[in-house]
Order: sequence, then structure tokens, then C-alpha cells
Amino acid sequence: MRIGILGGTFDPIHIGHLLAGEQAREQCQLDEVWFVPTYVPPHKDGSQVTDAVHRLQMVERAINDHPHFRVSQIELDRKGNSYTIDTIQALRERYPEDAFYFILGSDMVADLPNWHRVEHLVELTRFIGLARPGFAKPQLMANIARRVHYVPMPLLEISATDIRERVRAKKSIRYFVPEPVRIYIEEHRLYET
Ligand code: ATP
Repeated sequence: MRIGILGGTFDPIHIGHLLAGEQAREQCQLDEVWFVPTYVPPHKDGSQVTDAVHRLQMVERAINDHPHFRVSQIELDRKGNSYTIDTIQALRERYPEDAFYFILGSDMVADLPNWHRVEHLVELTRFIGLARPGFAKPQLMANIARRVHYVPMPLLEISATDIRERVRAKKSIRYFVPEPVRIYIEEHRLYET
């Protein structure tokens, strides 16, 4: 199988993430897209990331009506900081028959040369860069550039940070997140303070 990996904090998951997964799946003929919530150590840099249980529940509720979307707990189970290379190596060991494609936002592609052990990482996985309108391909070393495939992605100016702020300000988040996620946030009173 061809499997797309979409990692993120997903605090909360929103329609930008879902559309990114769907664009990558369709345009790169992926069989499945796996959403991989990142483990964030408690009180990392004093930032307050929502408990992994909630972030995972929201991802599950967001994707469960899509037959080709899955959630992987691989980074949550490992705990500790996960470098992408650790995750991809672990996935390849566990699923040696499958090919993995790491999906990332266009803003992150230019930063690839700084990633941990990127020379090795590019041999283990290909990358799918989501190119928003007007996006200019960054200059990358040839060994990285040849492993990045770009797919067009409509511009959705939505971020989890923005959604958390909207909840705090008692503004509507309807249609920013799938309805089951909105209900989950309301029921658990996430992001209110
Ligand atoms: P935060 O605002 O908390 O930093 P975020 O909304 O950027 O969160 P992440 O969980 O950090 O979400 O993002 C995971 C992945 O999804 C990254 O590759 C990121 O580039 C991509 N992504 C996030 N929002 C969008 C969007 N609106 N359109 C396209 N890609 C997105």
C-alpha cells in the first residue's frame, strides 16, 4: 500500500488538516492517509498542549466517516520527543510491505534541510508538499528536492491556534472543525480558559 503520513499536534484537528490529507490522497493515489498525533511532553516550554486523550478522540471523530483515513498512535505510545525519522523507521519495520509518504504544509518544506538526519530520512520516505496558491518552490539540495512531490492545495487560512482563540473568545467554530469535533470541544469544555 501507499500510505500518506500526516503528523501534527491536532489541538484541535480542523478542516485544513482534513483537506490536506484528502488532496494528498487523491493527487498522489495514496491507498490510505494516517493521521499521527504528536506526543507533547507535559508543560513543554510552558506551553499548554491539550491532553493526548482528547487530541486523539478528536482525530478519531473527525476521520471515522472516511474509509481511507486512519489514526496511528505510534508517537503517543512511544512518548518522549519523536523525530520524524524515528517514526518513519518504526513504521517501515512494522509494515515492511508498504511505502510511506510524509505530507507537510508548504511552509515546512523549506525547513526540511534542518530536519534531524534528513539525508537518511529522504532515503526512507518521500515527501508530499502542499502547495498553496502562489507558493514558490524553495531551493533544496538535489537529494532532497527529488524526493519532494508538490500537490496544489486551496488556501485555507485556518489554524488550531486560531480555533483555540475563537473558543476562548466565545466565537463560533462551526465549519472550522467537523461537527463531531465541535461537539466534543463543547462537551469537554476544551480551550475555554
Ligand atoms: P497550531 O496553530 O497549534 O500550530 P496547526 O493548525 O498549524 O496548529 P498542526 O497540528 O501543527 O496544526 O499541523 C499539522 C500539519 O498540518 C502541518 O504539516 C501543517 O503545515 C498542516 N496544516 C495545518 N493547517 C493547515 C492549513 N490550513 N492548510 C494546509 N495545511 C495545514
